Amino acid sequence: MNHSVPVQAAPLVDPFGRAVRYLRVSVTDRCDLRCVYCMSEDMSFLPKKDLLSLEELDRVCSAFVAQGVRKLRITGGEPLVRRNVMSLFESLGRHLKTGALDELTLTSNGTNLVKFADDLKRAGVRRVNISLDSLDPARFKKITRWGDHAQVMDGIRAAKAAGLKVKINTVAMKGVNEDELENLVAWCGAEGFDLVFIETMPLGDIDGDRTQQYLPLSMVRANLERRFTLNPIPDTTGGPARYTRCAETGGRVGFITPMTHNFCESCNRVRLTCTGTLYMCLGQEDAADLRTPLRASADDALLATAIKEAISRKPKGHDFIIDRRNNRPAVARHMSVTGG
Ligand code: SAM
Ligand code: SF4
Repeated sequence: MNHSVPVQAAPLVDPFGRAVRYLRVSVTDRCDLRCVYCMSEDMSFLPKKDLLSLEELDRVCSAFVAQGVRKLRITGGEPLVRRNVMSLFESLGRHLKTGALDELTLTSNGTNLVKFADDLKRAGVRRVNISLDSLDPARFKKITRWGDHAQVMDGIRAAKAAGLKVKINTVAMKGVNEDELENLVAWCGAEGFDLVFIETMPLGDIDGDRTQQYLPLSMVRANLERRFTLNPIPDTTGGPARYTRCAETGGRVGFITPMTHNFCESCNRVRLTCTGTLYMCLGQEDAADLRTPLRASADDALLATAIKEAISRKPKGHDFIIDRRNNRPAVARHMSVTGG
């Protein structure tokens, strides 16, 4: 199999002229935590036989890189609980060396970073997003159900010590952690970490009532601005985060409001599930099966064609945006968001 990739491959361009440069890859649906907003305590997971092997994940990622994807984010579930996942990071690292890829990164809950931070750095990872919703151990336990706060804090320190740039993701929840969001801004500023707040989104079955957790980030921001000066900085990510620089700490503070902001015009990303299904839009159900073409032949020609075909179907935006603009007949609204 030939994995060599030309530098600066021609980009995949969707029907709206957007170049697809960013692939997020879920390598497992499993996790060692059970965050209340994300999972029910008693989850059933995909049978292992349905998952793409690590070699297959490498093939799909490499096929995207060959077609101009410049950034890969490995996520999940919890990516670091997938057995042997470091071998995937190590093999994908070759695209950083050739210059075909700008960035290989991951989103993690931090539980395994003591073990893997140095290996990730060696594989070429420069930045990691770590989810942390509370600085209080008892509260952290309540939110994650199974989490050990000290273990995650050690993981965050290990990432920093390994020289990884850390971004903290915090889901802002009404009546749960809203009273410590200021402290998180101060702590991240002192540690040199970027901080991104996320609104709870209606994704899949959980045990509790989600509407009670919902805290609009407009309110979070207004509250924070009573104590901090948050100066907007231009968006360079093409994603749903809006960034500010906190004058008091010098740190970046971002806000992700996927359901309320119109960021689709600059969308440069698609998402792959651990079973090889490609979702072209965060807010739509339309998907492409890449596992079948992947497994149909040992070379990557069918796969490359399937990827091109999928991108040619990338929708303009979320259903609600399309509705608002009346560009298409109203389509069924899907409130669930796919991918991690
Ligand atoms: N396990 C890793 C982690 O927690 O960082 C990666 C996967 S996790 C699904 C990715 C991010 O999605 C986390 O920051 C998590 O807080 C966030 N998330 C999960 N469910 C969510 C929901 N219903 N609403 C908003 N954010 C959610
Ligand atoms: Fe696991 Fe991440 Fe979901 Fe929490 S948010 S249950 S750590 S996948």
